Amino acid sequence: MEETGRIVKVSGPLVIAEGMGHARIYDVVRVSEKQLIGEIIEMRGDMASIQVYEETSMLGPGEPVVTTGEPLSVELGPGLLEGMFDGIQRPLNAIRAAAGDFIERGVSVKSLDREKKWEFVPLKNVGDAVEEGDIIGTVQENAVMEHKILVPIGVKGTLKNITGGSYTVDSTVAAVATDKGERGLTLMQKWPVRKQRPSKQKLSPDAPMITGQRVVDTFFPVTKGGTACVPGPFGSGKTVIQHQLAKWSDVEIVVYVGCGERGNEMTDVLNEFPELKDPKSGEPLMKRTVLIANTSNMPVAAREASIYTGITIGEYFRDMGYSVALMADSSSRWAEALREMSGRLEEMPGDEGYPAYLGSRLSEFYERAGKFSCKGADERVGTLTAIGAVSPPGGDLSEPVTQATLRIVKVFWGLDADLAYRRHFPAINWLNSYSLYLDTISAWIDKNIDGRFSKLRLKAMTLLQEESALNEIVRLVGYDALSEPDQLKLEVAKSVREDYLQQNSFDETDSYTSLAKQCKMLDLVLAFGDEAKKALDAGVYLKKILALKVRDQIARAKSIPEGEISKIENIRSEMLKDIKKLTDEEAGEDA
Ligand code: ADP
Repeated sequence: MEETGRIVKVSGPLVIAEGMGHARIYDVVRVSEKQLIGEIIEMRGDMASIQVYEETSMLGPGEPVVTTGEPLSVELGPGLLEGMFDGIQRPLNAIRAAAGDFIERGVSVKSLDREKKWEFVPLKNVGDAVEEGDIIGTVQENAVMEHKILVPIGVKGTLKNITGGSYTVDSTVAAVATDKGERGLTLMQKWPVRKQRPSKQKLSPDAPMITGQRVVDTFFPVTKGGTACVPGPFGSGKTVIQHQLAKWSDVEIVVYVGCGERGNEMTDVLNEFPELKDPKSGEPLMKRTVLIANTSNMPVAAREASIYTGITIGEYFRDMGYSVALMADSSSRWAEALREMSGRLEEMPGDEGYPAYLGSRLSEFYERAGKFSCKGADERVGTLTAIGAVSPPGGDLSEPVTQATLRIVKVFWGLDADLAYRRHFPAINWLNSYSLYLDTISAWIDKNIDGRFSKLRLKAMTLLQEESALNEIVRLVGYDALSEPDQLKLEVAKSVREDYLQQNSFDETDSYTSLAKQCKMLDLVLAFGDEAKKALDAGVYLKKILALKVRDQIARAKSIPEGEISKIENIRSEMLKDIKKLTDEEAGEDA
């Protein structure tokens, strides 16, 4: 007989039930006759504290609670891509269809479509030895992505049977003779969300995740498998930058987790993402995207689950050997959910009411990112990059969630409301942002793209820092008090900002810049500075140098298409010629 607990107390999304001695922490339970979905987050004797993922109004003491005996898990298999799910992986379209516009409570729908058939192509033969993580075959999930069918974790043996053909996700496509008996394999498998999927080894990330966004790639790069954080003051371009990263990053799979506060924030995501086009294939970006979004009528507790659901799906694609980028927006909302539950559990509050384990939970999440040698007999490397948005109240970066996040992540893109106000986009503040991958990636770019890169980058950053110091002086004593070389510095720094860092996401050419073009552009801007300085030293007036027509061409280098980047060198030669002419004229006059 099924053992049944009883509700003793309901406090918002938290339900306390007695008679739960048979259940375990993190079991998924069904609460009340309505079968609401919840998860045990604390056990004391036979009392269970349950985080309920649906609206708990109208629940009362005495109602039944039944454990499913299983932890909160996700279904992994064909049908994930192009999918839109809620925080506990219920497909948004299917629950809408099952329950109408207002999602009814306790709706039970399968995460992956059970009707749809997929064409399975075996890669292994009967008699082959297989182990966890091996790829037994593939399913062409859509025009862009091939889904690899993996031997589930914990399964090892000899293939008894494997047949290609058209299958639903839950039908058996192969059988393995293991030392515990025969085990059927289906196109889908399950995994508990709170547990990291295993790998053979965690490797150190060394290659950049190329985003085509100049300020990111040049100054604050992230590795494939790295971690980054971006604060999002309202109107600072957070949505645009996330879309740009999703569209252009050289990763194969994008997982977007939206834990928005207001329902309409999520509606925006659900409307906008499907509109994005994949610039590489011309197909909708959704073909290689999984969206997790909490709908407005789900309580905050569901945000807490969504981030685990998202990262588990990311790990699954990583295990196929793909590069994956996961974006969580926003982890502050997730932390607030944690705070709310902690408060209801009457735990000792830490900083600003957040639980003392906020930092460790955050780091558990970010630690699941990385570059991994995947399980399986063959050598396969997969990467999972985690990018978390934070929404510090009032833009105050010293608040606990931002601070805890900054202690963990290796990259910080400081979106700046002031820059956005001045229409400098992307509004990433170069003075407070950082990347701890800078050395690794600079070396990578020097080696693989352009040997001049590290030097150019350092020079440009130094210039921007000098600009900031010079601006202080200008504020005190005025521009005219600066020496000509310093005035020139300000001009070149301005060119770095305007001609290089500013990048228009809505311009077809400017939206993406390859690393090769980035190097050439940066070299052009800085070479002008060098030549101009030489000319100044030779006695040419700064006014004359700054009036050169070629400066317009430097400013327009960003609109040179990728296929024609050698034209940037032509501008450079012209610039050298023009400045030399000025110097020669000056020498002539002197003589
Ligand atoms: P947030 O999500 O932070 O509120 P958005 O991403 O919606 O802000 O950006 C606000 C506006 O800023 C956009 O509508 C757009 O006009 C402008 N913007 C942001 N980033 C860029 C960019 N890289 N290029 C051009 N315009 C941008």
